Amino acid sequence: MTSPELPLALFGAPPAFVEPLHVGRPNIGDRARLMERIEDVLDRRWLTNNGPYVQEFERRIRELVGVRACVVTCNGTIALEILIRAVGMRDEVIVPSFTFVATAHALQWQEIKPIFCDVEPRTHMLDPGRVEELITPKTSGIIGVHLWGRVCDVDGLQAVADRHGLALIYDAAHAFACSRNGRMVGSFGRAEVFSFHATKFFNSFEGGAIVTDDEELAEKMRLMRNFGFRGKDNVVYVGSNGKMPEVCAAMGLTSFDAMDEFIAVNKRNHECYRDALDTVPGICVLQFPADERSNYQYVVVDVEERDAGLSRDELVRVLEAENVLARRYFTPGAHLMEPYRSFQPQAGLVLPETERLSTRVMTLPTGQTVSEDDVRRIARVIATACAHADLVRARLARKGTLPP
Ligand SMILES: *Cc1c(COP(=O)(O)O)cnc(C)c1O
Repeated sequence: MTSPELPLALFGAPPAFVEPLHVGRPNIGDRARLMERIEDVLDRRWLTNNGPYVQEFERRIRELVGVRACVVTCNGTIALEILIRAVGMRDEVIVPSFTFVATAHALQWQEIKPIFCDVEPRTHMLDPGRVEELITPKTSGIIGVHLWGRVCDVDGLQAVADRHGLALIYDAAHAFACSRNGRMVGSFGRAEVFSFHATKFFNSFEGGAIVTDDEELAEKMRLMRNFGFRGKDNVVYVGSNGKMPEVCAAMGLTSFDAMDEFIAVNKRNHECYRDALDTVPGICVLQFPADERSNYQYVVVDVEERDAGLSRDELVRVLEAENVLARRYFTPGAHLMEPYRSFQPQAGLVLPETERLSTRVMTLPTGQTVSEDDVRRIARVIATACAHADLVRARLARKGTLPP
């Protein structure tokens, strides 16, 4: 057997990993403790409807974030929908397109038009100046997204919201347990929403939470979460069903117990990626500023094709052959997905940074199931591919392209 031209799976070498490495593989805390809690749920036969584990989970979130009220829900999307309705958003709301599509869907689901706004190239998050340009008499609010566990320009956005009398809320699905200058995410704007989906660093299988200092708003959202029931047979409000089951709260509490460990592992991996990729031209691992504390759940790599020799999409294919399933975030931007693409075909004209980022950004596997050794091996693949970019590109060209 002849040895491959390069030590890469693309050239016939054995893949770097036998089993695929995923972005967002769930972190799992102490199993025995989880099982104990689940047994307890079953013994009590209180499976849902604001049970003791849900109440304990809400209390621990409130204490961590330092807010007066927490309403946990069955997922983050329902949490966003409930909050959007509770703060009275209507007509048009300004959101980034560089986000997971649920941010826009939560508006469109209730016939509110998402107006897509561009982001700052440095932070990948809403640019308050651009937000202000998009305000019309129909604008009722702004939803910022704390992307990658970083913190939005909260002061800039609050100033815009105040100047125009708009509701400002945050999709903090990525940013549980993150903070800036000691102030926790969850305490900004009117209210903020977390997701505890399995792929987030901290999960409750599925789950979400809305946190706010506004107790009146929280009370309204509690009604909305449970069909509008106040007391036993008394419906006082139009409501949905956004309740979190007890098993999910049991998982959430178990994740809580292990949270410091999850963050430590993510941080270690993040530093390891940064060190290992530091010397590869055109490959830049997104950093967290010194005044922010992150959960380090996202290892975000910006690929400058001119210096790396390969595009982001080419690198994703190189990694895929090695069983490293890097993700192209957010490709395409929400404005290029249906129904937004058909509703607003011109949206891209005001989103140059979003469109640029969506061709250059990828995220790499991290979390409990990824070791430092794995990280170094992934970095070596990237370095090798970039060092031999011409050969790699020629090889890829023969294999066709990724779907858009
Ligand atoms: C995960 C996510 C959501 C949706 O949360 P679910 O709990 O999956 O419904 C919303 N926005 C962003 C930015 C997300 O990453």
